[in-house]
Amino acid sequence: MINYTLKCDQNHTFDSWFKSAEAFEMLVKKSMVVCSECGSTKITKAIMAPSVSTSRKKGNKPPELEKKSKLKNDILELKKKIEANSEYVGNNFANEARSMYLGETPERSIYGEAKADDAKKLIDDGIPVMPLPFLPAKKAN
Ligand SMILES: [Zn+2]
Repeated sequence: MINYTLKCDQNHTFDSWFKSAEAFEMLVKKSMVVCSECGSTKITKAIMAPSVSTSRKKGNKPPELEKKSKLKNDILELKKKIEANSEYVGNNFANEARSMYLGETPERSIYGEAKADDAKKLIDDGIPVMPLPFLPAKKAN
């Protein structure tokens, strides 16, 4: 897995995980990487300015690495929390989110998969959805 800091054409930056550099390129080409702020699919890798640290710590891991593994733990925690407290709706995510928003089904936490187009439509309609920094585990029905 690779974590990239990405930037959309509106200059929003966000982090996302990809299986590989090739997978990232392919997903961007298919417009499947969506800015969580504005729904833009014009995504590029953000060029990160090298960080300058004035305080030196001796012996320990470089701060960058610590941050990375903390992020990874945070994501795993989030994944556990979401899977424990939310209902997996699979490919039906967009429909479920919409009918919940419209009050057709009781409100609850759901997670699943949505096509970039569907996710963008939800965002356009003001329906609060959030891209997850991981792929939901597929559950057998
Ligand atoms: Zn954006």
